[in-house]
Amino acid sequence: MTTTAPSPASSVDASVLVDRLRRTFASGRTRPLEWRREQLTRLRALVNECEPELTAALAADLGKPAIEAFVTELAFVKLEVDTALANLEHWTAPRPVPVPWKQKPGRARIVAEPLGVVLVIAPWNYPVQLTLAPMVAALAAGNCVVAKPSEVSAHTSATLGRLIPQYLDHDAVAVVEGGVPETQALLDERWDHILYTGNGTVGRIVMAAAAKHLTPVTLELGGKSPVIIDRDADVDVAARRVAWGKYLNAGQTCIAPDYALVHADVEERFITAVVRSIREFFGDDPHRSPDYARIVNGRHLRRLEHLLPEPGRSADGTVVVGGERDEHDWYFAPTVLRDVSTDAPVMQEEIFGPILPVIAVPDLQHAVDFVNARDKPLALYVFSADESAVEQVVEHTSSGGVCVNHVVLHFMNENIPFGGVGPSGTGAYHGRTGFETFSHLKGVVSRTVKPDPKVAYPPYSAFKRAVLRRYL
Ligand code: NAD
Repeated sequence: MTTTAPSPASSVDASVLVDRLRRTFASGRTRPLEWRREQLTRLRALVNECEPELTAALAADLGKPAIEAFVTELAFVKLEVDTALANLEHWTAPRPVPVPWKQKPGRARIVAEPLGVVLVIAPWNYPVQLTLAPMVAALAAGNCVVAKPSEVSAHTSATLGRLIPQYLDHDAVAVVEGGVPETQALLDERWDHILYTGNGTVGRIVMAAAAKHLTPVTLELGGKSPVIIDRDADVDVAARRVAWGKYLNAGQTCIAPDYALVHADVEERFITAVVRSIREFFGDDPHRSPDYARIVNGRHLRRLEHLLPEPGRSADGTVVVGGERDEHDWYFAPTVLRDVSTDAPVMQEEIFGPILPVIAVPDLQHAVDFVNARDKPLALYVFSADESAVEQVVEHTSSGGVCVNHVVLHFMNENIPFGGVGPSGTGAYHGRTGFETFSHLKGVVSRTVKPDPKVAYPPYSAFKRAVLRRYL
């Protein structure tokens, strides 16, 4: 949006900050469940009480409609908080596991211990959710946390930078605002875990910095998430759901359907239905719709412009609807392209904007082959009435997650891990998976002192060797 973005808060000395948080962690203050519950409860209070400020910041950064901000950002953080609060005792309880008979008499258990001081680096597209949801997991696991919101969504960054210290334990949780130099200064420090969400180029920078300290990383990246429309899919429902997921947040969603592989027999009907859905959702002029977000800045608007077909280059595809934009408020119309070749600019990179290329395929196997010839995507969507066709896609492709006959929903199910695979990411979070991402699952075996048979110790006589070979 065109409102002037606030400048980031004055830079913080990263090593002084990390030292302070390390002292807090070493004091043991963050370990008790009461402390964790209190932080989570306060985080929920922040989201509830500051909804107007957060919503205003999201509107200023992305023109995000208030209801979209609620559903996709605030409600999701609250779900993560509530899930953690409801399960904290269960998740943190030492988990007894069986003991092999050779180690009896004894006990074995898995203990989830906090990692220490962790760093969360967030991007600009869902800047509240992608900063706070990883923090929920890190706090539930008993860690100290530094959050680095994106400088690109500067209003939200400033709002979080102001609110988080007001609500959360100042000695255990901190926000550092800023761009590349500030993030780089943070990355020079030693962390006990880094969760980074953003593009793969910076993901490599994060991983290289973490490698210097052998710090484990979770990388939540992106890529081109395909949607497959089979011949017998309910085309109207598929088109409506794809249009919803594609144009949500003006396409700036990591798990938005990037492009559609549509069975040639239903291509025409699918395109017509997507165009109809756009009109149903946003009216004849989406520019005037209160339910349609804006591109985050002029740089991204121009990046998207370059993905539209060049006049005279038919391989780039044909604009069926959309293509209009307005530099004044960074509007980019919901757009559908057809007859797109695989060489078109729009098929070379993650679109991350409201352009839907439609590619016709002769059958399901071609769609599967198309997906498998490219990087493993973050999400994969398949619409079909045929269970065996769905299984064919699920079994013969690899992706971070799959949603059948809908899009995006798997992200909002706290019972399944969310993360990518290969170039779309490493590691996962949400719900219990998030708690475990920020925990060390320590195996503990306890033996009784007696008996203590000498057969296990040197010197290894022929008899002892025979016994050990026989029974181990
Ligand atoms: P961005 O530009 O906001 O960058 C993300 C973070 O990296 C920011 O905090 C930024 O300060 C930091 N950063 C940027 N350049 C850096 C550098 N050179 N060194 C160190 N830190 C640096 O966001 P983005 O990368 O444009 O985000 C969009 C991408 O994120 C898309 O690819 C999208 O698919 C992906 N994404 C993934 C998820 C997920 O959950 N998997 C969610 C949202 C977005």
